[in-house]
Amino acid sequence: MAETKYIFVTGGVASSLGKGIISSSIGKLLQARGYSVTIQKFDPYINIDPGTLNPYEHGECYVTVDGHEADLDLGHYERFLGIQTTKANNITTGRIYKSVIDKERRGDYLGKTIQIIPHITDEIKRNVKLLGNKYKFDFVITEIGGTVGDIESLPYLESIRQLKWELGKNALCVHLTYVPYLAAAGELKTKPTQHSVKELQSVGIQPDILVLRTEHPLSLNLRKKVALFCNVDENAVVQSMDMPTIYEVPLRMQEQNLDVTILQKMGLPIGEEPDLSSWKEFLNRRHNAKEIVKIGLVGKYDLQDAYKSILEALSQAATYNDRKADIHFINSENLNDANVEEKLKDMDGVIICPGFGQRGIEGKFVALKYCRTHDVPTFGICLGMQCMAIEFARNVLGYADANSREMDETTPHNVIDIMEEQKSITNMGGTMRLGAYECVLDPNSKVYQAYQSEHIQERHRHRYEFNNDYKEEYEKAGMKCVGVNPESNLVEIVEIPTLKWFIGTQFHPEYSSTVLKPHPLFLSFIKAAIDK
Ligand code: GLN
Repeated sequence: MAETKYIFVTGGVASSLGKGIISSSIGKLLQARGYSVTIQKFDPYINIDPGTLNPYEHGECYVTVDGHEADLDLGHYERFLGIQTTKANNITTGRIYKSVIDKERRGDYLGKTIQIIPHITDEIKRNVKLLGNKYKFDFVITEIGGTVGDIESLPYLESIRQLKWELGKNALCVHLTYVPYLAAAGELKTKPTQHSVKELQSVGIQPDILVLRTEHPLSLNLRKKVALFCNVDENAVVQSMDMPTIYEVPLRMQEQNLDVTILQKMGLPIGEEPDLSSWKEFLNRRHNAKEIVKIGLVGKYDLQDAYKSILEALSQAATYNDRKADIHFINSENLNDANVEEKLKDMDGVIICPGFGQRGIEGKFVALKYCRTHDVPTFGICLGMQCMAIEFARNVLGYADANSREMDETTPHNVIDIMEEQKSITNMGGTMRLGAYECVLDPNSKVYQAYQSEHIQERHRHRYEFNNDYKEEYEKAGMKCVGVNPESNLVEIVEIPTLKWFIGTQFHPEYSSTVLKPHPLFLSFIKAAIDK
């Protein structure tokens, strides 16, 4: 395709309507037609990236291969499209301002007064077009975080207005709203949608397509009414009902010809409807899986979004093993020797979650001791892997005071230590060991069997590492270091081969599990959990 097409996805009425899923679904449908597609998220907050945000504020921090700490919506983009995103796919207001201020200090603006329009908006526009210009995608879908009407969103909306004006047919705006159902009146209400569209129009943006989130099916009449009041074609008013799984959404959008409407509006040939057969096959398997596999998730955040990618990776792997993942959150803060048996005995497998800091850490050791001594399939991820090493040092190697330097700076048995290059770092943001690193696997290991390959690359996000001074002792006592970084010699994977499945990874495999390519370690973990 000669020119890149730009699709903007905005939201109104309420937050959490699923702009990320709609963006991903549109991306999926266009990609299935043979176009190269990427999706970008703009977050209207001042943080440079979400890396320093508490998961209670913002859910999981996703990590791209190039080491960017990103919004969790990038995880949806990768899982739906099977693409890899980068730092260019997630921009915050903080980054926009920082870049403008840096340019000002360098003198790039030649004495001009720096203003929101045009300097901030130009920087936003530059970041939108960068993906099209530099990487030559056919479609760049840009999701604008927040809700229309927020003060924070205004510079983004102004940029979209300008881009739509400049790009003509090559740009289009999809606006997602909510249609509430008033039970007392027995009616669906379109007024919030009308107001939200007015809000967009008042900043000069006419949405081209409306996606209406609803819990009840919308009648043709209701859609006609919305079309009429909002200056949108009737076939461009699409409903998005609650679905048992988010992976149904692309199919529901296809049924309503959302992709066809987009192509028509952008003056592109329609061609044949793509069959999405492997996607449908995944959904069929998911739907037909009746038996469950029970997985305990031991961590300190009792909110779903904090472990988003792990949950998705587990449920994908369960689907490909023809099971339903029945995931139980087990708060590690409440876990002790007296109740661990009761909380874990029904689990087919246990995940020890990633995390930072002291809170809830002792409960992870309690869980690990139980799992190790009862041969429960167990998967430790990042901090979870570090906890595996610490629990083993305390209860097998006999170092009762073993710890990570993160939890106890003066521990005499620092089996997990701070990485050399981390010692001088004082800034918290963006300074961890981040992004994809190579790892070489021991051919005599379960991880090798799972990956079927000696060389792998996985994404990291941590400051601490396994202390190689103890490596020999561990291996003698039965915990093997089966994955090592070939350059730095850092231990990336530990495994107890005499147990059914007891593996810890310093990296985060969950980030690279997608709908059509479930992650080999999660597949193998779920299989072991089923066999138990
Ligand atoms: N807190 C640990 C570290 O910094 C682990 C981080 C994580 O689990 N992502 O090394």
